[in-house]
Amino acid sequence: MLNIVLFGPPGAGKGTQSERLIDKYGLVHLSTGDIFRSNIKRETELGVLAKSFMNKGQLVPDSVTIDLLRAEVLKHDEPKGFIFDGFPRTNAQAQALDEFLSSIHTSITVMLSLEVDEDELKKRLLNRAGVSGRADDADPDIIDNRIAVYNKETAPVKSFYEKQDKLIAIAGMGSVDEITERLFVSINAI
Ligand code: ADP
Repeated sequence: MLNIVLFGPPGAGKGTQSERLIDKYGLVHLSTGDIFRSNIKRETELGVLAKSFMNKGQLVPDSVTIDLLRAEVLKHDEPKGFIFDGFPRTNAQAQALDEFLSSIHTSITVMLSLEVDEDELKKRLLNRAGVSGRADDADPDIIDNRIAVYNKETAPVKSFYEKQDKLIAIAGMGSVDEITERLFVSINAI
């Protein structure tokens, strides 16, 4: 299996690039943010809980997120592989993902980390608010909080995969096509 963690701060382009990668490599896209948003729309119990954290720019608690992710992986029969987008976001999630994948006889192949300047991220998120209608994109204070949470809790996940020799940094500035090409080149070299 080809299991990719597509990593990067909010606004780095994970969702956009995931679409390109699933097309090319026939992978299953698992975005915890998308799953939470779909639950919020359907007003499920999980959605109500997730919303209370997401609207403040905080992380949904690990236990909830990890259980959800495991259940999503198990929904797929003989997949070619997964793109994990927005997960893992903490070291505890990364550890749990390793243990879970090992229990089903697979593992993470690579972490592709999109590197984007903070000023550019803020611009992209505010821009996206216009089309996404996402409350967490529209408010500069919430954006600042999401970036702060990323720097404190999520950025350390890079070292987790670096220690396993699985980290590849990808320049996330430039056009969408240019970034896709960089990702393809890195994946094809695996
Ligand atoms: P972005 O990367 O642009 O912030 P996402 O859609 O990945 O967008 O995530 C939106 C929000 O969903 C996050 O700010 C967080 O509140 C919640 N979320 C998504 N994935 C996770 C996760 N793995 N752990 C905890 N919270 C998460």
